[in-house]
Amino acid sequence: MKMTVNRIRVVVLGSPRSGKSAVVVRYLTKRYIGEYSSTGDFLYQHRVAFDGAVSEVEILDTSNCAIRGCLGDHVRWGDAFAVVYSVCERRSFLAAAELLSLLERTRLPSCAAITLLGNKRDLEHAREVHAEEGQELSLRFGCQFYEVSAAESCAGAALAFHALLREARALALLLPAPRRKLAAYSVSKVIGTIFGKNSKSVRKKRPSLSI
Ligand code: GDP
Ligand code: MG
Repeated sequence: MKMTVNRIRVVVLGSPRSGKSAVVVRYLTKRYIGEYSSTGDFLYQHRVAFDGAVSEVEILDTSNCAIRGCLGDHVRWGDAFAVVYSVCERRSFLAAAELLSLLERTRLPSCAAITLLGNKRDLEHAREVHAEEGQELSLRFGCQFYEVSAAESCAGAALAFHALLREARALALLLPAPRRKLAAYSVSKVIGTIFGKNSKSVRKKRPSLSI
């Protein structure tokens, strides 16, 4: 029997230093490196097989995209989104809430797979955001939620990404691509409202790494 292959584009969003790169690298390589370049976006490509089918997965690890003005492009580009915050930094949690709100306003809610990831759960002594708050936020936006520690283990990141990819694949089967992209139309305008500037975004060249 011929294997079906589909493509899933995942965008990883969140405040600087929340651990986006650490979580992505943990998921893709099972390693934790500690310090990553934070000067640009990275596009990773890999193939995953689950439930009897293969998906070509592209993961865009973003960096400062709100400031660089490419958030709108990223939101349009993605089929699935991982919104990361640090449980040790309330500000990053508030930024995650803003991002979820942006995604809700610019993508039809049921047309994009979204997961909220509270990272750095190993730093319990420095915790500023309770797990219940993450849970409540995810319920408000109808998305998935995991608390993970990129530093401590692979399990959380793997579980979260697999669940996200499974949902993205299910949505791709249910809805043809044009319908999934439909509601992303006015995204630049909404971002302009959030960040108080005219975000005329230009598509940036993205470094890419195949794993
Ligand atoms: P990004 O800017 O969101 O991509 O964040 P990075 O992945 O570069 O991580 C920012 C800092 O947080 C780095 O010093 C990482 O080593 C650290 N970090 C990332 N994830 C964790 C984690 O789960 N636990 C701890 N203790 N530190 C982490
Ligand atoms: Mg990074």
